[in-house]
Amino acid sequence: MNKGSVFIISGPSGSGKDTLLVRLFEKCPELKFSISSITRDMRVGEVEGEKYNFISREKFEKMIEEDMLLEYNCYVGNYYGTPKEPVIRATEEGFDIVIEVDVNGAANIRKKLPEAISIFIMPPSFEELERRLTGRGTDSKEVIAKRMESSLGEIKRAAEYDYIVVNDDISTAVDDIISIINASGLTLKKQSQILKEVLEKC
Ligand code: 5GP
Repeated sequence: MNKGSVFIISGPSGSGKDTLLVRLFEKCPELKFSISSITRDMRVGEVEGEKYNFISREKFEKMIEEDMLLEYNCYVGNYYGTPKEPVIRATEEGFDIVIEVDVNGAANIRKKLPEAISIFIMPPSFEELERRLTGRGTDSKEVIAKRMESSLGEIKRAAEYDYIVVNDDISTAVDDIISIINASGLTLKKQSQILKEVLEKC
């Protein structure tokens, strides 16, 4: 059995990454998702164990001490981390797994898992990013400006990724990600076993 692959997905606020991921998992239910451990408070609508495990600072620091995290970052005063064991277990069992992290988390995972495939979700244009960030009409100008600055900072690091998927039309963007996942399963490295089996019978 082939090992599964690790897919790192990042995208700035305004890229539409969250909706895209929901659609991706609807279309590919066999795909695993890496649930991050985080120390921030749960927001309204969030469910424990769905996207995040909400844990105490003490528990998080113990996970750091015991080397249980593939990577972690401190973001606006809270810890966010990717537990190592579920990622290793999923790939050992032959499942592909998606890890959604920010650009720093992605860089740290690449150092430990250089074979991981990274995908950056890009808004179609600067104007569209601005439109999406201002669209909700609930945030102050300052908050929008901060989000814009943070998104642009992330976009500047998109060149660190293997693939860039433009999220203009959501169905097309989801299909683009599925194409990347499917193609990664057809590389020579992944197909070496079948090649060996066929040649053995020659
Ligand atoms: P939020 O608090 O809005 O859910 O997430 C804040 C940021 O943390 C987002 O950029 C998100 O991609 C990032 N994030 C979520 N999980 C992880 C993780 O496990 N590790 C790191 N480094 N960042 C994460």
